[in-house]
Amino acid sequence: MKKNNKSEVPNEQYIPFVESLYANRSVVLFGIICQCVIAYAIGVETGSVIFHWIAIASVAVGFIRFVDFYLFDKNKHSLGNHRNAVNWEMRYTFGVTVAALLIGAMTGVSIYLGQPFAEFASMTLAMAAMVTVVGKNFASKQLVYFITVSVFAPMFVGLLLNGHWTNLIGAVLLLPFALSVVSLSSNLREFLSAAVGGRIQVAKIAAEFDVALNHMPHGLIMFDPNHNAIVVNKRAALMMRAKSSEMMVGRGLKVILRFCRFRGVVGSNVTDQIEARLIAMLKGQDERRFLLQTGDGSHIEFSAKKIADGGGVLIFEDVSERIDAEDKIHRMARYDALCGLPNRVYFKDLVRSNLASGDADRFAAFFVIDIDDFKHVNDSMGHPVGDELLCRFADRIRMLVDDGNCFSRFGGDEFVGLMAGFHSSEEAESSARQALHSLSGNYEVGGHQLLITVSAGIVVSRVSAFELSQMMIKSDLALYESKSKGKGISTLFAEAMDERYQRRQRLKSDLKQAIRERKLNVFYQPIIDAHTMRIATCEALCRWDHPELGPISPAIFIPLAEETGAITDLTRFMLEQACEDCTTWEGDVSVAVNLSAMDFRSSSIEEMVRVALAKSRLKPSRLEVEVTESAILEDHVGASHILNTLKKAGIRIALDDFGTGYSSLSYLHNLPLDKVKIDQSFVKDIATNDRSMKLVAGVTRLADELGLIVTVEGIETLEQFERLREHAHIDLAQGFLFGAALSPRGIATLIKNVFPISAKSKAFSKAS
Ligand code: C2E
Ligand code: CA
Ligand code: CA
Repeated sequence: MKKNNKSEVPNEQYIPFVESLYANRSVVLFGIICQCVIAYAIGVETGSVIFHWIAIASVAVGFIRFVDFYLFDKNKHSLGNHRNAVNWEMRYTFGVTVAALLIGAMTGVSIYLGQPFAEFASMTLAMAAMVTVVGKNFASKQLVYFITVSVFAPMFVGLLLNGHWTNLIGAVLLLPFALSVVSLSSNLREFLSAAVGGRIQVAKIAAEFDVALNHMPHGLIMFDPNHNAIVVNKRAALMMRAKSSEMMVGRGLKVILRFCRFRGVVGSNVTDQIEARLIAMLKGQDERRFLLQTGDGSHIEFSAKKIADGGGVLIFEDVSERIDAEDKIHRMARYDALCGLPNRVYFKDLVRSNLASGDADRFAAFFVIDIDDFKHVNDSMGHPVGDELLCRFADRIRMLVDDGNCFSRFGGDEFVGLMAGFHSSEEAESSARQALHSLSGNYEVGGHQLLITVSAGIVVSRVSAFELSQMMIKSDLALYESKSKGKGISTLFAEAMDERYQRRQRLKSDLKQAIRERKLNVFYQPIIDAHTMRIATCEALCRWDHPELGPISPAIFIPLAEETGAITDLTRFMLEQACEDCTTWEGDVSVAVNLSAMDFRSSSIEEMVRVALAKSRLKPSRLEVEVTESAILEDHVGASHILNTLKKAGIRIALDDFGTGYSSLSYLHNLPLDKVKIDQSFVKDIATNDRSMKLVAGVTRLADELGLIVTVEGIETLEQFERLREHAHIDLAQGFLFGAALSPRGIATLIKNVFPISAKSKAFSKAS
């Protein structure tokens, strides 16, 4: 930094310079007194009046300077303005220069007169004035020049005018002396300037550091090698609930921790451990972070860094929000969002840790639970009710949880449980059954009372042989078995189920292949017009002759096809084959093809029907589709849309197996149905049971009143048929009495015949 030019000197440096000029008033006063006394003394000694004038002028100048000092003191606050500071410097310079000129004049005249006392006294004063240049006034460069010139110039002139050769030498020697005074003060000024500049810089850095330190989000304490705090920021004081950071400075770590305990920041019994851990961190022996839970439940994380002098810096941060978020993520990853039970992933961990300890010879029961008719609750009462049922169900499960038991929701209405710690397999099984029993019963959900039963598959194993993935497969097989038997049943896994499972798996893949290779057959069961006793329609029924196992019932392979998704291809095959075969039959005999509920979900039935009709060129009026209630109920709106499209294309629609589902005709009557097929279970004992007969009569009458054609299925005996014709409304009849399913050619032959059963006179108008 250049300091020659005042305007280039920063204010922070320049102002102290000006202030230093106005300091040390006693020296100034002493100088003025000396000056007056010496001038007066010389005047008396030499008798020259000029010295008396110099004495008077010195008093006057001294007085004016002290007035100036007084004004300076009064207006010191205005020094911050650079121009004011320059003004004060000039005023001071003027005062000192005049005083110096008086000294110079006194010395010059004394030398010229050559009077020894005058020479000695005035020279002493001049030298003292030069000392003040270096000692006091060096801060102002111009002042140094002015004083030097003011003192030395008259001296120089005096020496020259005196004329003595020694004085001429003295005059020459004055020059280097004057220069050395100037250079000395210049050095001093530069040195002072550097020192002041450095101090200002340090203060600036310290202030910046202070701001940064007190605005950082972390708490910071710097310790000396004895672990006494030397720097503490505001945040640290706040986190430790101290009044100020200053009061913590100088305290040892132990004292700080004791204070934290007193303030409830740390627990009373752990301060020693915390201290040991923090000291290890400060010494660089432990580089891990340290998480502390405070009395109010928030979390503070500490990290430390050793510093070269043996001390260390401790940095800490309130990480409560992060810990909360981590907790939340942890919970979300482990628990089911709806019911709060452990999810599948966490359940596996629970099972592992549950079984890892304790006696490996003990027995454990693992079971999978399915809420019966849950889908019906969801569909008929809405998903919120379904969700609430799952939550209430989970509440009951939670009552079963203890050290040896754990439960989980795997998804949907599927729950699993593990109970361990039994002495025998019987004990394990009966405990599991008891637990399952407690889950059945009445549930109050959304203002409804629901009677809930559960189906379950149980598997029991010694803990030493327990393998979760195997248990899951086995319990699933047992559950499957339960479901196939009905509702509210729990089945214990048996090895035979595994064999059945393997067989099913094989059947599934064989079936897929058979569908792919079109190795299925289509047989047709006649449906007779109860009035004319001629075949009106033929129901296409799928037949599968397994190359090794022989004929497989559709009651077995249709559900398999539905499970694997192969049903779509099967339906397409049936539609195409049935339409093609129907074209070979005389007259208007139509063909009925069964649609699966799955077809409504996954495939475009309309498109499949359109292609089958197009390929065979069969009239749409000769094609009929049979749909079950379950297919319609699953997605009422979607199914209704599909059926309307088919209906518009001229295809007839029959409701199959009526009476086996939940729905009522009133619920279904806005669908575009043409026919209702009364399920064979209604017909079974109509010949022997009057109540059954009445039931069928009622159902058929209702269907008739709704304008639907009534087909009665499963008629096996003549007696059944006769009674139906007598007491019920029957348009079409189907059953072994009229024949089982035949090949297409068999049907072609049969079409020409009238069934040799006397057609009793019965009003008959709608059947086609
Ligand atoms: P379904 O649609 O109710 O078909 C009628 C079933 O009752 C046929 O059994 C038929 O042989 C049988 N049946 C007919 N008359 C009598 C009788 O007088 N007494 C008794 N006890 N049974 C009689 P099948 O062929 O074994 O078919 C069983 C079920 O398999 C069918 O019931 C139908 O739901 C399904 N199915 C068969 N073929 C297909 C198909 O191509 N597609 C679809 N989606 N399902 C099919
Ligand atoms: Ca059918
Ligand atoms: Ca049926």
